[in-house]
Amino acid sequence: MCPEKWTVATRNPHKLEELHAIIRDIISIELLPDGFPPIEEPFSTLDANAWAKAHKAWHLLKKPVLAEDTGLEIDALDGKPGVHTARYGGANLTISQRRQLVLKQMEGIANRKARFRTVLVAVIHGIPHFFEGVVEGRIAEAESGSGGFGYDPIFIPDGYEQTFAELPTEVKNEISHRARAVRKFLEFCKSISQEKGPR
Ligand code: IMP
Repeated sequence: MCPEKWTVATRNPHKLEELHAIIRDIISIELLPDGFPPIEEPFSTLDANAWAKAHKAWHLLKKPVLAEDTGLEIDALDGKPGVHTARYGGANLTISQRRQLVLKQMEGIANRKARFRTVLVAVIHGIPHFFEGVVEGRIAEAESGSGGFGYDPIFIPDGYEQTFAELPTEVKNEISHRARAVRKFLEFCKSISQEKGPR
């Protein structure tokens, strides 16, 4: 059976808000309890970082856990920021400075192809299940829009002319990397809920 209640191993309220909007009432999700120790993401792949977050939460809570790690991959920058998206340019930059850094590095570059990739890990009875979601797009010439979070103001998904920060929330939550990973997870959940035991 797929558990009905999950703890999401994140401190990012934007991620939780998006997860709520995507999952709706199919399962219930809640944030880590107050006082939960900080979770590091020291590894060189999204999978390993997502698993590190999930594992720590599972180890301490022993409850069904969801965790995710997301990266922005830009072809002209050899896949950077990638797994370093959260800390791109150094630990002390604001997210606005990180976006400006990307725009600066992309100045004069015609190939603006990029993608967001999310790896979502669901831990059930201590066993991790991995789901990946990708949205292809391009890096804008300048920042635009005030919705979303993170690098949304500089990312234009394929098929649109506006950035994620300009598009309605419903559109981002329909086509995003996160939405795609979550839908795979929900399909999996549905499939294990329908499984019948031995006759
Ligand atoms: P992490 O998955 O929490 O490590 O996030 C990595 C970085 O990607 C952070 O700087 C976030 O702001 C950014 N990020 C994660 N998800 C999104 C998104 O949906 N849109 C834009 N930026 C995002």
